[in-house]
Amino acid sequence: IDFGYEQVPTQDKEKRVADVFNSVADKYDVMNDLMSFGIHRIWKKITIEYSGVRQGQTVLDLAGGTGDLTAKFSKLVGDDGLVVLADINQAMLRVGRDKLRDKGLFKNIEYVQANAEALPFADNTFDCITISFGLRNVTNKDKALASMWRVLKPGGRLLILEFSKPEYKLLSKAYDLYSFTMLPLIGKLVANDSDSYRYLAESIRMHPDQIKLKQMMNDVGFRDVQYHNMTGGIVALHVGFKF
Ligand code: SAM
Repeated sequence: IDFGYEQVPTQDKEKRVADVFNSVADKYDVMNDLMSFGIHRIWKKITIEYSGVRQGQTVLDLAGGTGDLTAKFSKLVGDDGLVVLADINQAMLRVGRDKLRDKGLFKNIEYVQANAEALPFADNTFDCITISFGLRNVTNKDKALASMWRVLKPGGRLLILEFSKPEYKLLSKAYDLYSFTMLPLIGKLVANDSDSYRYLAESIRMHPDQIKLKQMMNDVGFRDVQYHNMTGGIVALHVGFKF
């Protein structure tokens, strides 16, 4: 099935992404649960397991949005550690900060408004970086990956959780049908915004697949790069190290 999705020109992409997340920030968490049937919680739990993060470490949750991973890392690193939740979008950061404070999590969390393509941190700062459902929104992904490599400590690891390419044809067709019909419909009904959720479906289609993303990570210097498919490859977790 060809849904005839339009390709957004690069120069318009940043504005489009800003419009989308300004529009969805307040409804983001409830929409995530609805659209993924709650499965995003499992994908994130698996990501935390692969992170190897320990007490006292410094973690960057990049494009961290409303802070689901930050909340988990905050508990793992404890009072001697630090989690930086960085996101380009102020509205998403505000919703995230309010949510985490309501949960009593504030002692070891810092919030930074930043573009993944030009991270405002010193070289070799973080033990672990995660970017969960964020990379596909970034305009220049190679630049962003190089920036992550720079701020990661030697021995540190990068985890990229992102929509990817389903492993089976039938699953791929069903998933296309779901994402191009149901996502905009749920977006319309719950957030009164079908366009943003149509963008979501389009951006998933255009994101590099498992092999291509692994290659991109290798190209900027990550080593021992491996990926783990989840839910039949609808989502993949890529893990790479800086040595
Ligand atoms: N990580 C969260 C999660 O898994 O629920 C939020 C993911 S949300 C789909 C994508 C986030 O990426 C948004 O909060 C958006 O503002 C952020 N983002 C988009 N482009 C970015 C960029 N260039 N640099 C940093 N964050 C960006």
